[in-house]
Amino acid sequence: MSAGASEFKDLRVTVAGLGVSGVSAARALTALGAHVTVVDGGDGERLRERAAELRQAGATVRLGDAETLPPGTDLVVTSPGWPPSSPLFAAAAAAGVDVVGDVEIAWRLRGLDGREPAAWLAVTGTNGKTTTTRMLASILAAAGLRTAAVGNIGTPIIDVVTGEETHDVLAVELSSYQLHWTPSLRAHSAAVLNLAPDHLDWHGGMDAYAADKGRIYEGNTVACVYNAADPATEDLVRAADVEEGCRAIGFTLGTPGPSQVGVVDGILVDRAFVADRQRQAQELAEVADLNPPVPHNIANALAAAALARAYGVAPAAVRDGLRAFRPDPHRIEHVADVAEVAYVDDSKATNTHAAEASLKSYEHVVWIAGGLAKGAVFDELVEAAAGRLRGVVLIGADRHLIREALARHAPEVPVADLDRTDTGAMAAAVAEAARLARPGDTVLLAPACASMDMFTNYQERGKAFARAVRELPTA
Ligand code: ADP
Repeated sequence: MSAGASEFKDLRVTVAGLGVSGVSAARALTALGAHVTVVDGGDGERLRERAAELRQAGATVRLGDAETLPPGTDLVVTSPGWPPSSPLFAAAAAAGVDVVGDVEIAWRLRGLDGREPAAWLAVTGTNGKTTTTRMLASILAAAGLRTAAVGNIGTPIIDVVTGEETHDVLAVELSSYQLHWTPSLRAHSAAVLNLAPDHLDWHGGMDAYAADKGRIYEGNTVACVYNAADPATEDLVRAADVEEGCRAIGFTLGTPGPSQVGVVDGILVDRAFVADRQRQAQELAEVADLNPPVPHNIANALAAAALARAYGVAPAAVRDGLRAFRPDPHRIEHVADVAEVAYVDDSKATNTHAAEASLKSYEHVVWIAGGLAKGAVFDELVEAAAGRLRGVVLIGADRHLIREALARHAPEVPVADLDRTDTGAMAAAVAEAARLARPGDTVLLAPACASMDMFTNYQERGKAFARAVRELPTA
């Protein structure tokens, strides 16, 4: 990108954090002639190496102090992980300096180099964001469009927007954190998949969390896609200030009404983007085309399909894209069948809302759960799942919270409470689950908790589960 005249030329920008998105922002803004200072509280060897590279590119880097605002700062660019209560942002607020995220920068950089900017189809929600965004990118690619899945996933969004490759349309996953810091985003169309309490400490409460999610609909030009089974998402559409003519499109697992997409007799159908939505319905794909064809994944596919249809994608491409889609690891991943029991890794179910969705996908489940609860309450989840539970195996630091909820709502379900958090605990949990399961059952790792008490991350937890399954005696 050339250093042409832009709002960033000679702007004094402070970038918070030397992470992947911070480095990407610093590089892009330096190239545009901004005076960039990157601040990071750490001072380790890796950071020093990165700092040296950025200095070569013309940025200033300050290590060991992430709190003081460099004097003269005009704009602060934050990284998604930083809590809004960070002292740097308080200092910025006191100085009257705007704080924005890397997605906001990417939005403002679109088209600066003279290319026609790609349209943004944006996805948020408490759960299902990555899956839906990837499904959407798969559909757009099947339609022959130049596209990429970006935002919370993949290549940093600034690099995609300013890179050599030209895109027609981007599938953009946005977390509530990113939306919080992206005030001027105006997507072509957007979807909020669902809304359940999560990250409330970061946002300061449910209302603030919902308001940040709702920003995704602001200024939409074609469609605001909401979940008909989750009225809170429709409320956000109503509250949004959209472009004239922008439509509210619901997705439902039932028969769709006019201006909805839904399911009829195992077929995904569109009653929104057809010539006569009172009388017409367009077949898009079959539930059997989905991978895996479980209820919450059908919802994700419908949301992705609605966004693609809003962009004008033909029905056959929706079907081809959904067929070609493969989920990321640790999301309802079928590991193996052992002694007629299916073992499924949904380690990514790190909150109760996600675990509830995956438990609903199976009739008889031995549930492996537990870890760090992050302040969650388990009563609703256990109550909803009680009828499906063949047994429960509990691991991790906060397992007593789940045990207590089970005692209240499912006292007859056998519970194996593993009083250990060492690395071998997962093998013991899987062996215990195998003992509880009967032929035809599913053993499901859907912890409803974060993993960091026992594992580096949810991926490592899922891998430990898969290893343990493979070590089960097969006879
Ligand atoms: P995110 O990017 O929002 O974390 P993912 O697509 O990675 O979402 O899925 C995370 C987990 O959430 C999955 O493993 C599954 O348990 C659950 N999940 C996926 N889609 C949904 C949905 N539509 N509703 C509820 N839970 C879901």
